[in-house]
Amino acid sequence: MLQPMELHLFDIAEIPVRVSLWYGLLLLFWFQGGGNARSTLVWVIVVTLSILVHEFGHAIVARFYRLRPSILLHGLGGLCNHDRAERDLHDVFIIAAGPGAGLLLGLATWIVSLYAPFSWKINPWFLSVVSMSLYVNVGWSVVNLLPIWPLDGGQLYRLLLLRFFKPVRAEKVTHYTALVLLGAAVAYGQVSRGSILVMLVIWIAWSNVSALRAAGTGAPVRTTNKGAKQLLAEAERAYDQEDWREAARLGHLLRLERNVSDSVTREGLLVLGLSCARIGDHAEALTFLRDQPTTPEVVEARIECLFALGRDSELDQLLASESFHKVPSVRRKEILGIVRPET
Ligand SMILES: [Zn+2]
Repeated sequence: MLQPMELHLFDIAEIPVRVSLWYGLLLLFWFQGGGNARSTLVWVIVVTLSILVHEFGHAIVARFYRLRPSILLHGLGGLCNHDRAERDLHDVFIIAAGPGAGLLLGLATWIVSLYAPFSWKINPWFLSVVSMSLYVNVGWSVVNLLPIWPLDGGQLYRLLLLRFFKPVRAEKVTHYTALVLLGAAVAYGQVSRGSILVMLVIWIAWSNVSALRAAGTGAPVRTTNKGAKQLLAEAERAYDQEDWREAARLGHLLRLERNVSDSVTREGLLVLGLSCARIGDHAEALTFLRDQPTTPEVVEARIECLFALGRDSELDQLLASESFHKVPSVRRKEILGIVRPET
């Protein structure tokens, strides 16, 4: 969902990248900072690319688990949002991939700087790109791996603690550790320079204090609902055996389950929507299929429902859309012969 102060930039590998107004303000802050125009420009480009590489590290692993990731550039850096992972281990890989990607970029920078031709090595642009890229990618990745929640290292630390302590205690230890380390960083004067860093420290401290005051969780504690997965498997089996009524019944039961992962919920709604279309619950089917990806199967089911309900203008829109062309051409002709015989 696009927020009012956000702009969609582009998609790479089906991962949307958005930028918030706050990121624009951050850039403005850097350009206003005085300093040499060349180094500010290089800095902004290196930082933006490095943030994107870091977030794409998270996003590509999240996409591998089909968690629909998206990336946002905001006032304090980047953020990769995605559906809830089904297992802690998946989270570990998704979280570690961000700093991992940053360290790889740092390594690549170092190798390039070693083997670059002499003319590059004396070029001031090249030198500033190399030094900034090493600083950002190696330095920030290492800082990001400190056990300070909600940095990546802090999130990994929390998942580790959850293996040894009960959730409530694990959360407390997570947030107190973060506050103690932040306090130490401030005391040893690592934070005095640059107001962005001060804002970051205040934000992290505030996040930890409010998490402690909520006496709760930095993120949901996973309790896998094995019953829901079982129900989904049974519903899919019934659907494959063309027992639409049974598939719809199981799909409705699945909707009543709690603590279900996003992917199971989504697949459950798909089976439910397709089954409802088959048994003639057309209006219901359309609501269940609303947010599904437009596969040929989903498109056909929507056409069938809109036709049965006589919602002609929506049907015409669908028939004229890109989605309809995902249906194989032979089947398209058959469908048009039924719903639009006059054309
Ligand atoms: Zn990260």
